[in-house]
Amino acid sequence: MDTEGCWNWQLMREWMPSNIQYKIASILPPNGDNGSDEQASVGSNNNEYSVAIMYENICAFDQQNINPMWSKIWRLNVTERVRCFVWILAYDRLLTNYHKSRMGLGHAMCNHCGNVVETSMHVMRDCSLVTPFWLQPVPMRERSTFFMEDLQQWIVTDISKGRRGNNGSAWCDIWATAC
Ligand SMILES: [Zn+2]
Repeated sequence: MDTEGCWNWQLMREWMPSNIQYKIASILPPNGDNGSDEQASVGSNNNEYSVAIMYENICAFDQQNINPMWSKIWRLNVTERVRCFVWILAYDRLLTNYHKSRMGLGHAMCNHCGNVVETSMHVMRDCSLVTPFWLQPVPMRERSTFFMEDLQQWIVTDISKGRRGNNGSAWCDIWATAC
């Protein structure tokens, strides 16, 4: 700006492309009488600037209806690889024989059990290869629930359990890593 408070065109003409000069010309120069500059955003309850809130507004994201399972998955205290695996499992997108058969790639049955469809639930919990593994960490009194729930409920139940296991880890983290 020059001494009179206007844009200093003499200076800007030297090094600024004309299309940017036009944009600047359409904006009034800053003036002390208007107060100091501050960041502002649309949609927040206060005057704080938040990229997240603006992004949620643009995408019509509804905080109220968000499925709490996703945030629980991302809050797991496990490696990123395990978190991604649980996320894929929650979407029921593991490449099981059942899913492969729907793509026309072979049969749907478990290669170990033979006469049982290899769903995600079968692979993760119900296959006779896997069930003995779960009997170790799951206490007797919780086994009926643990082995009865369907895939979504199974994930929700286990991912919501934060109690400490024998080695000091939360059950949700042990469960996710075990998966
Ligand atoms: Zn099996």
